[in-house]
Amino acid sequence: MSMDHLLRNRINRRRALGLLGALGAAPFVARSLRGGVAHAAPTQIVNGTTCVLTPSLTEGPYFVDERLNRSDLTSNTTNTGVVNGLPLTLNIVLHRQNLSRVADMISLAEQLGVDRLELANTQYLAWALLNRAALLPSQVELDKARDVARAARDRLKGKIELLFVLPDYYSDRPKACMSGWGKRYMLVSPDGLALPCHLAHTLPGLSFDNVQERSLSEIWHHSSAFAAFRGEAWMPEPCQSCERRTIDFGGCRCQAFHLTGDAAATDPACGLSPKHDLIVQARAAAQDQLIPLSLRYREIRR
Ligand code: SF4
Repeated sequence: MSMDHLLRNRINRRRALGLLGALGAAPFVARSLRGGVAHAAPTQIVNGTTCVLTPSLTEGPYFVDERLNRSDLTSNTTNTGVVNGLPLTLNIVLHRQNLSRVADMISLAEQLGVDRLELANTQYLAWALLNRAALLPSQVELDKARDVARAARDRLKGKIELLFVLPDYYSDRPKACMSGWGKRYMLVSPDGLALPCHLAHTLPGLSFDNVQERSLSEIWHHSSAFAAFRGEAWMPEPCQSCERRTIDFGGCRCQAFHLTGDAAATDPACGLSPKHDLIVQARAAAQDQLIPLSLRYREIRR
C-alpha cells in the first residue's frame, strides 16, 4: 500500500497502526497467550508476497498481568494520564532517496492524527554505512527538507510535535550516543546478551555477559564491557579536556570504531576529531547528484 493511497483515504488511528504494521514501519505480530502456549499469527499476504509464519510452541510460565489484557486501552486503567488512547508517534527514517517527500510524510502524519512526528535522518552505521554512498543526502537536499519541516513545525504547533533529526554527518558535534556508554541504558539481545548499545557486540576486545548467567544488577555494576567506556577515564584528547565531554560523552563508540578502527577514538563526526576528514570526504561525495542509487540488501541465509 502506497503513501498516496493512505493520503487519499482518511483512516482512524487504530486502522493506521494496522496499516503501518503491514508497511513494516512497526512490525506487529498478533499473538494469543492461552494456557501457557504462544501461537503464531496466521499466514499474511502483504503486497502480493506471502509471509508464512511457522507455528511454534513455547513453554511457560508466563507472568502476564491480567489487567493489561484489554481491547480498549483507555478503559479500566487507573492511570489518569491515559485519556484517549496512547499518544501516537510516527517515526520515519530519512535518506537521500525519500527526503524529497517530507511534505507527503507530514501530510500523512496529519491524516493519521499523530501526536508526534519524528523525521529522523539515517545514522550511518551497520547496513546504512555499507549503503552510505546511495543514502547520504547532499546539503541542498537536506536544507530543502529541513525548511519544509520547519514551516510545518510552526504551522502544527500545539497539534503535532515535529522533530527533524540531522544526520551526524551534517552536525559539527556528535550526539550523546545512548546518553553515555553504560550510563543509563542496557539492551538485552534475543539470545540474552546484555549490551550497552545495539551494536556494541561489533566492537572487538569486549566480552559481554548473558542475563541467563548473571543478574542484571551484577552485569550493570561489574561487567567489564559496561565499564569499558563508562565515565571519562578512557577518553583520548581532544575529548579529555573538552568541556562537552559530559554532554556528548565523546560521541558514538561504534561510529568511532567502524570509521577509524579504534573504538576509543573521538567520534569522527565531531569537528574537533583528528579523523573528521573521513566525514568531510563522505559529505563532499554526497554533493554529486549523479550517485548511483543501487542498494545492498541483506541476504537471508537458510
Ligand atoms: S572533542 Fe569529544 S567531547 Fe568535545 S565535542 Fe568533540 S566528541 Fe564531544
